[in-house]
Amino acid sequence: MSGRPTPIPPAYNLRRYVRDGVDARGRAVKRFETYGAALAERATRIKTLRWQGEHAAQMVALALENCQHRQPCRSLACPVCARRRRLETGAAILEFLESYSVEELQFVTLVDPRDRSCPRWWCS
Ligand SMILES: [Zn+2]
Repeated sequence: MSGRPTPIPPAYNLRRYVRDGVDARGRAVKRFETYGAALAERATRIKTLRWQGEHAAQMVALALENCQHRQPCRSLACPVCARRRRLETGAAILEFLESYSVEELQFVTLVDPRDRSCPRWWCS
């Protein structure tokens, strides 16, 4: 996740498909968040986690505080990394799904193998 990112082909750019509106089930849907909104959400989460006294919350806050563009924390709790992950993997996911019809898809869970991790403080 470093260096110049590969341009996302327009057909596979999630930002084109996630817009303000109402989905098929009648739920309000917001557009794909901006980088600035993700930064603001991360700051809110850090503040909330810091307010907690638990060690685990402090460790997550520290990871989010140390998250940088060139050295992302990759925490699933980090909205900046979550946004980045969705943008980077969205093209491959859409390309994969393109070979199936909607009728064929009953339930799909796609997990990025890079997200399989267990922080030491959690697993020990
Ligand atoms: Zn991060």
